[in-house]
Amino acid sequence: MLEVLNPATGEVVERLDQATEEDADAAIARAKEAFPKWRTVEPSDRSRLLRRLADALDAEKENLAQLESKNTGKPLGDSRGEIEMVVDTFHYYAGAPERLLGDSIPVSGGVDVTFREPLGVVGLIVPWNFPLTIASWKMAPALAAGNTLVLKPAELTPLTAIEFERIARDAGIPEGVVNVVVGPGRAVGQRLVEHPDVAKVAFTGSTAVGKKVMEGAAATIKRVTLELGGKSANVVFADADLEEAAATAPAAVFGNAGQDCCARSRILVEKSAFDDFLSLMQPAVENLRVGDPFDEATDMGPLISAEHREGVASYVPEDAPVAIKGSAPEGSGFWYPPTVLAPLTNEDRAAREEIFGPVVAVIPFEDEDDAIRQANDTIYGLSGSVWTRNGARALRVAHRIETGVLSINSNTSVRVATPFGGMKQSGVGRELGPHALDYYTEVKNVYISTEGEEHSSEPWARSEEGA
Ligand code: NAD
Repeated sequence: MLEVLNPATGEVVERLDQATEEDADAAIARAKEAFPKWRTVEPSDRSRLLRRLADALDAEKENLAQLESKNTGKPLGDSRGEIEMVVDTFHYYAGAPERLLGDSIPVSGGVDVTFREPLGVVGLIVPWNFPLTIASWKMAPALAAGNTLVLKPAELTPLTAIEFERIARDAGIPEGVVNVVVGPGRAVGQRLVEHPDVAKVAFTGSTAVGKKVMEGAAATIKRVTLELGGKSANVVFADADLEEAAATAPAAVFGNAGQDCCARSRILVEKSAFDDFLSLMQPAVENLRVGDPFDEATDMGPLISAEHREGVASYVPEDAPVAIKGSAPEGSGFWYPPTVLAPLTNEDRAAREEIFGPVVAVIPFEDEDDAIRQANDTIYGLSGSVWTRNGARALRVAHRIETGVLSINSNTSVRVATPFGGMKQSGVGRELGPHALDYYTEVKNVYISTEGEEHSSEPWARSEEGA
């Protein structure tokens, strides 16, 4: 039996049966059976069905947002924004079925065209930090391209995924196209990775588990996309709008209580502006309101679990250089205060490992080269920001930072219409935007001879004739 908790209170909100490997097999079999029909649904009809699903999600968005906050502890305003993105993502990809264009390639002796075909059954494995949002980034392009799916939510946050399955069915998505299996990563997740009838696994989670997924997928040469961990740098030059950079830096790392793969958890500040930056940042950290997710004034909620809080706290030992500390409620719930460690070096453990909590390392740098060197001195490469008023420098630095997503004078990372994903050990592949569709389709090349029967179109046959 799976006990689902509310992290703000520690109370059980739901008890669920855990799925087994056999349940995963049954879901894969349902998806396999549904695939031939779903892939041949007329593109305009598939589009209409996805639009209807987006509308159905829109109609239930308040219910879904409340459920997400109850299960994750994130502020209700954040959950509303996330569910809005789920709706937008389905609307965006609802336009895709009729736009999955192939190529026509000039060749001699015939016509050559490419088709973009669905893969088959796709297994989707997602984490607990943005439960339904991250699932929608996978489900919407997968369905638009004609695949059927099995979704495995994180054990800690299965509630909105279960609701999604019901909403999809009620919206008319055919039986077997969308299947949700709630169960442990080791059994159900691994089964999706290893099962020969699953053509692709799209995984979002830690780099450690991502490596196991890649390894497991090798046995069946399964396609994989991986969205993994990060240790993104927020690079602040002395010529930047320091007030703006400092006022927004806390939200860029403490948003979602720091449980964000794109968290700017290393702030690199040019030495000459280091002290000014910290002084400007201080009120923004101290004024963060940490507490009840259902209070509209709350900026930050609790961490996801007691176990995760212990891990986060291990990065702030007794002798840690805590420069600024925010507040957090006492008592039940998995609370942890926003914490700024400064000055640190890029060699410190808190600067090297993904903490995934509200703890940030502030590190000085000497000049542009040093900033780039330190920003790239990590196994990760997911997101990041550059703050400067010098446009040429902004582009120079953006080119040289090894990261999949970067913002200049902004801390945003994700938009429905633009590609998102990591370099280095932050992942493989891209989600969102038009690019995601490439990862849910295969390109098939078809050559049609236009020569008469008396002419052989095979180039080697011709050269033999000539020999
Ligand atoms: P996790 O890796 O522990 O779990 C992710 C999912 O994988 C869960 O559903 C889990 O049940 C499943 N799983 C666990 N073991 C498995 C196995 N052996 N085989 C198959 N599936 C298995 O990650 P988490 O703690 O849920 O999430 C936090 C991590 O996710 C952080 O590292 C964060 O950076 C990363 N993340 C990345 C992105 C991104 O887009 N790059 C987005 C959000 C979170």
